[in-house]
Amino acid sequence: MNYADIKQYDVANGPGVRVSLFVSGCTHYCKNCFNKEAWDFNYGKPFTDETIDKIIEYCGASYVKGLTILGGEPMEPSNQKGILPLVKRFKETYPDKTLWVFSGYDFEKDINTRMRDEIPETAELLSYIDVIVDGKFIEELKTLNLRFKGSSNQRTIMVQESLQSDTIVLWDDVIHTEFKTNDMEEHVYEITID
Ligand code: SF4
Repeated sequence: MNYADIKQYDVANGPGVRVSLFVSGCTHYCKNCFNKEAWDFNYGKPFTDETIDKIIEYCGASYVKGLTILGGEPMEPSNQKGILPLVKRFKETYPDKTLWVFSGYDFEKDINTRMRDEIPETAELLSYIDVIVDGKFIEELKTLNLRFKGSSNQRTIMVQESLQSDTIVLWDDVIHTEFKTNDMEEHVYEITID
């Protein structure tokens, strides 16, 4: 696997400050893709054990909330094989930090069915991922105020919760509920100290 870029401080691709890995290679060819140079699987640099060491080290900073893998297409079969050792080591080293993956594939139609059946790495990868943002970028559905998504067909899926409940649990819904709860608790707290 090759990779196009590593960002040590990324606040655009998931909550909080994150380390981001942009892998090379994508076969979706979305119209007006933001990262066309990464369609080529040979673009960028080879992803080595030293690259993994560097990412793990970056993720160790106390302010880093997690790791995000995007591209390119992390769920292309050859890239699944490439990212698995990183993902495994990340979760073993930082069990409390989150792993987000951006994929143009559909969670139900592709990732958790066809890929899980056909690609040896998919099931193990899914066991480590906290959130998958799924679906191709569709220019006609482009919406500017979506959090961490480019078009309205894309979904921010909480993977472990979705696998356990056998239904799609969306991060946006959970975060919205938690925000409301925290907001109410804060309000009660304010009333108490007054
Ligand atoms: S899935 Fe992402 S990287 Fe691939 S073509 Fe679409 S927008 Fe570009």
